[in-house]
Amino acid sequence: MESPVTAGGLRNTSVVVLTLDTSEVYIVVSLCSRTDTQVIYIDPTSGSLHHDRKLGYDVFHTQDEALNYITDDSKSVSKSTVYAKAILGYVVLGSIALLLVATKLSASIPYLPGGGCVYTISESKWIKISLQIPQPQGKGEVKNIQELTELEIDGKHYFCETRDITRPFPSRFPLRNPDDEFVWNGWLSFAFKKIGLEHHCVILLQGFAEYKTFGSLGQQEGIVALIARRSRLHPGTRYLARGLNSCYSTGNEIECEQLVWVPKRSGQNVPFNIYIWRRGTIPMWWGSELKMTAAEATIYVSDRDPYKGSARYYQRLSKRYDTRNLGVASANQNKSGLVPIVCVNLLRNGEGKSESILVQHFEESLNYIRSTGQLPSTRIHLIHYDWHTSIRLKGEQQTIEGLWYHLKAPTISIGISEGDYQHSRQHIDDCEGEKIYNDDITGFFCLRVLQNGIIRYNCADSLDRTNAASYFGALQVFTEQCKRLGIILDNDLASDHNTRKHSFSDKAWKCFDMTFEEFKRSIILSPICQLAELFLIAGDIHATLYTGSKAMHSHILSIFSEEAAKAKQFSVAQNVKINLQRRYNNAVVDSSRQKQLEMFLGLRLFKHLPSVSIQPLHVPSRRSSFLLKPIASIDQYSDDGDSLLSFKQKNLIWISQQAADIIQLFVYLGEPCHVCQLLLTTSHGADDSTYPLTVDVRTGRDLDVLKLVLEGASIPRCPNGTNIMIPIPGAVSDEDMGLKTRANLHTPQTNPSFLYNFEGLEGELDFLTRVVVLTFYPAESTSSPVTLGEVEILGISLPWRDIFASEGPGLKLWEHVTNIKDNANSFTSKTGSNPDVFGLTNVVLPPIKCDTSRNAQVDLLSGEDIISRSNTQPMTEISLHDQCHDHKEETDSQRISKQDKIPSKTGTQHYISCFEILTAVDNKLGFVEAMKLEIERLRLNLSTAERDKALSSIGIDPATLDPNTLIEESYMSSLCKAANSLAILGQTSLEDKINGCIGLDPLDDNNDIDFWNINRIGEGCCGESCQVHAEHLTLTLTSTLTSTSSESIFICSSCKRRVCRICCAGKGAILLRNKIGGSNYNDLDGVICKLCCQDSVLDALTLDYIRVLVSQLRNSQAEAATCKAFSRVVGKNYISGKKESFNKFEVGKVCELLHNEEESLAEFPFGSYLHSIETASGSAPPLSLLAPLSSGFQQSYWRAPASNSCAELVIVLGNLSDVSGVILLVSPCGYSMSDAPTVQIWTSNKIHKEERSCVGKWDVRSLLTSSPELCGPEESGKEGQIPRHIRFDFRNPVCCRLIWIKLTIQQVVSSSVSFGKDFNLLSFDEEPPSGPGRRASIGGTSESDPCVHAKRILVVGCPVKEDVGRNFEHANSIRNWLEKAPLLNRYKVPIDSEKLIDNDLVLEQNISPSSPLSAGFRLDGFSAIKPQLTHSPYSNRNSLDPSSIVFEHRYLSPAVLHIQVSALQVLPSY
Ligand SMILES: [Zn+2]
Ligand SMILES: [Zn+2]
Repeated sequence: MESPVTAGGLRNTSVVVLTLDTSEVYIVVSLCSRTDTQVIYIDPTSGSLHHDRKLGYDVFHTQDEALNYITDDSKSVSKSTVYAKAILGYVVLGSIALLLVATKLSASIPYLPGGGCVYTISESKWIKISLQIPQPQGKGEVKNIQELTELEIDGKHYFCETRDITRPFPSRFPLRNPDDEFVWNGWLSFAFKKIGLEHHCVILLQGFAEYKTFGSLGQQEGIVALIARRSRLHPGTRYLARGLNSCYSTGNEIECEQLVWVPKRSGQNVPFNIYIWRRGTIPMWWGSELKMTAAEATIYVSDRDPYKGSARYYQRLSKRYDTRNLGVASANQNKSGLVPIVCVNLLRNGEGKSESILVQHFEESLNYIRSTGQLPSTRIHLIHYDWHTSIRLKGEQQTIEGLWYHLKAPTISIGISEGDYQHSRQHIDDCEGEKIYNDDITGFFCLRVLQNGIIRYNCADSLDRTNAASYFGALQVFTEQCKRLGIILDNDLASDHNTRKHSFSDKAWKCFDMTFEEFKRSIILSPICQLAELFLIAGDIHATLYTGSKAMHSHILSIFSEEAAKAKQFSVAQNVKINLQRRYNNAVVDSSRQKQLEMFLGLRLFKHLPSVSIQPLHVPSRRSSFLLKPIASIDQYSDDGDSLLSFKQKNLIWISQQAADIIQLFVYLGEPCHVCQLLLTTSHGADDSTYPLTVDVRTGRDLDVLKLVLEGASIPRCPNGTNIMIPIPGAVSDEDMGLKTRANLHTPQTNPSFLYNFEGLEGELDFLTRVVVLTFYPAESTSSPVTLGEVEILGISLPWRDIFASEGPGLKLWEHVTNIKDNANSFTSKTGSNPDVFGLTNVVLPPIKCDTSRNAQVDLLSGEDIISRSNTQPMTEISLHDQCHDHKEETDSQRISKQDKIPSKTGTQHYISCFEILTAVDNKLGFVEAMKLEIERLRLNLSTAERDKALSSIGIDPATLDPNTLIEESYMSSLCKAANSLAILGQTSLEDKINGCIGLDPLDDNNDIDFWNINRIGEGCCGESCQVHAEHLTLTLTSTLTSTSSESIFICSSCKRRVCRICCAGKGAILLRNKIGGSNYNDLDGVICKLCCQDSVLDALTLDYIRVLVSQLRNSQAEAATCKAFSRVVGKNYISGKKESFNKFEVGKVCELLHNEEESLAEFPFGSYLHSIETASGSAPPLSLLAPLSSGFQQSYWRAPASNSCAELVIVLGNLSDVSGVILLVSPCGYSMSDAPTVQIWTSNKIHKEERSCVGKWDVRSLLTSSPELCGPEESGKEGQIPRHIRFDFRNPVCCRLIWIKLTIQQVVSSSVSFGKDFNLLSFDEEPPSGPGRRASIGGTSESDPCVHAKRILVVGCPVKEDVGRNFEHANSIRNWLEKAPLLNRYKVPIDSEKLIDNDLVLEQNISPSSPLSAGFRLDGFSAIKPQLTHSPYSNRNSLDPSSIVFEHRYLSPAVLHIQVSALQVLPSY
């Protein structure tokens, strides 16, 4: 056996969590599977993880090197250091980040056949990190977060770093493709996936893994390992998780595996065999109620559909244990060709026993499943074996014999899997059987026999009886497993060496036929006792996980050992004690443990942690950001203000030189992002008025285009060191703003939008924002200098690294956006409609399921016709409907004639038409109609501004259509409440649906009726085939137009009438009804008609639908912005063409050669431009010059407009760096004498042109004669070679942040060009050999209009480690000057009353006229929660799944707090 120390790699994984005295936290990881060390930085403000993959920056050769770098060679003190063996998870929960690490491990199975060590966590630690972000959290949340960290991890969780162990051994899948059913830290590990370090967090399983060595003749002959995986699909504790749940899984569901192998010296093949079984509660809907008074819990079986989902449960088993098609002879001689599932039911079945009701239903459930024929390839067999009764009547020995009798046939038929591990793949073709190999192992597995099907044990809880029975079942298999491996357990044979060989021809499974005494006499007992020990520990662990206490009745497992009798005596007392313990746990702790488990798995977070965001924001103002312009401080040694951006200086009080009018910070962000929040740290000295009063925010991609996004935001006065978060909305286009102002003329007072934001003026999103200008205005009264503290900018960045590398979440996003674009193309080409209206955003996530037939109907509704009809002949129309059944032919023919019409309406026109239809009968719109109209607008993708414009054009004041104002205030809150519970129910149902699909083929959705089923304006009841007619009364005018006889007919589950689609309520109504009925079903089966559904529920569905559409609109805007950002970096065509063009030539190698072991300093997204760059139409975007080499089309390149003879690129480097040169990659068209540029380069640190210094000027034309390969188009077939390039080396490395490159072409070609003597000669060392016979030709652009062009620009050199803390001491001395007794211009306004009105907390503060003049107030401790969940999910994609989201709505649309201020004038009473 190999040493466990080296198992799986060259070294053991080491994790060091370092907290510096600045309270910054670094995770330093050296994985066993790698040779280097990675550093992950936890952002101290938002908690987001950072890893840039830069050698010498966050990648190091050794752990010591990394630690020295972080602690600056021990100059900065670390506050605490935690040494760990593995990372188990990380998550940010509001203002707290939690890092879970394993500090002690035990090697439970040190060396699996083929390698890999299974470690059980024996000690773990949650590291709590308080974040700077001021997120208010309610007490309940804080308590829940605390409870999450109290979840028991130690001793009950295990992992393997190098092999997949979520599936039966040996897994057919690689490590990083685990079976989700058994992964317990999927949610907790997401943060590492997001930064591309998924290997740095292990895949955690719950349950038990342990091994024992055994031998018959005093020497080690075999190893047996027991692995028990607990399913996470129905997590929870005894009385809360029983029977089936909506994920089609049962409580306490465990897969067990008994692996036996013969250890060999390395290099020898390792033979092994495996036996798998399953245990869990009965798969149907049942439960038990615990009453403190009664001795036993009362068992009940659900009245409604108790076997719902049972078939899906067995399907999952059948899928997992079906080995019929793997091309290997099954172990069994099962002629039927089915997958057997044998259920061994150990419940009491006597008269009057509470469990007998379960036994009956179990039987019935299987009959029911058989009758539906849902499991054609599975044979389910049920064996009843009343364990307790048998023991009482016949004693233990006979009970065991009886069990063996029942198990014999199924065990033999299902069989075991057998094979061996071969160390080399050399003879792989010679092996017969199934071969399994992947990158995780060096050799391969060859399986010659496979287990097909499974035995499943159950008692009531899948605990004590289950553990005992499965042990005696597994024991029989164990003897057979040993025999097949040539390990002798037979007493007679073992004592006689000469007959050893004889055992191989011995009868298979012979122990099944033995009596208990025979078995005990003939088998060597020590290995059996070893096995029993494993089962004893496993039983205790499963019992503890489920009930919080150890297993009972487990003495029977020791029946073969000497102390069996003693154990029995002892265990009676033990059982009583455990029973009491369980009852206490069940009654008191269960619900809290249930919640813990759900949070650990990331389930129901919207309930447990409603204010927590799914993904923390980035802080691009940290690390490599800087101020473009210095700002002058009173402290002459100050660092130009850069320290204002540094977290290391968070206690800094920066003081302006004199009383300044304004202070302006030009912040250049470290990476492009959409800016969402500004975080200020209040900083002042003696007088709190020195801190600015208001701030303006401008943002832009570069200095040339800056938009004002926030004006005059007031900064409250608060104590020194307070963090204030100011949300930043996106820029609003002037046009929208203009429209809005005009439209709002009549309604100067906006209404609070309790239902949804009707005004909805939403800002633009720009993921390429790079420059943020903050303008601070001091209080007018002050004449003292202005003070500032740390300034942080938070935003959402796109996963650029993944996007360029085509992997991880970035790849998902890329593909998604690509699809949008493809759809957009097909959409516009198909319909040919006005692209301005049906632009890109229209097609993103088409609103719910708009199947084409229904769309056709919608388009049919060509408004003009209806309007003209309704205006001119309303009477005819109404009569038409009244007699519609009699005139069916007529209506049909009308319908056809309308279908022939090609819809040609724009969105606005269509919207107006709808408005006119709705107002045709009654001039005033009601609440429901107003909502319907809004739905129509959102489906048409009209912005609120467009809507208001349209309405104003026909003389309607948009405010009169605001649903928020059309509803009784008393109804408002109940409606909001109903909509909120819909949102929660919908999300719960979706979560279950997604989890329920794990291990199964997805169900076909019957999507005729969706969650809301909101019919569009003009849709009506289909008529005679519907018995409900819920919709024809309100929309008389148009119902006939859309009636189709082919519509599906449903049966209302409440009144049992036949009902058409239009007259059905959405599926959400069923969830609400179930909830009120107290059912725990979260499914959407059945329909309910609108007449059986309360109006308030229908209104809630409509409201929820509006919220969904608003959110979708915002989503599609975000996606359009993403698409735009992509196209600005890699070019428009590249997005759709990426897959074809992506050419993975050895980019790394090429880069290495180009950089000459230096780093690329200006690569996007870190590097960017300071100014906009003029670009020819049809050229690649300017940012493509800085994009990674592998991105973009091979043939594309950047060009300046032909009219410009000169282009100046001001490149901002990713870091302050020592730059040694610039490399220009030649465009594929090559250079000619007319377009070869003169290149002049300057460097500087700040934006002022005067401060830059020139480092050289080079003329490329003079090169062309000596290097003819630079001329003319690139030859094809040169991929993989170093691209053509020119290197401009600096004489000495220059330390700078900005590089100015001026490319000039001479419009008049002059023949006399020479190098100035001051300039460096070019270096051609790196040139590729020139191809033979190349012709120096004119470049790709036409000779008549040469232009400036290039493929890429690389700036090379080494980043400089920035030392922002250098003025720390000096700043401290200033602090002394500041620190006098604070004079605060504030007084506390007492809260007079605090009351709960409905669900809202109302605080009342009364300010009496006699109180001092007050300019504002701040509510301390106010926790304004914007819940995660604002509406039900709109697709099968889980919007709360961190892997599927880039943009979170709460950041895109900041929360609004409405404060009502009333001034009461009390009249003096005379
Ligand atoms: Zn109907
Ligand atoms: Zn009904």
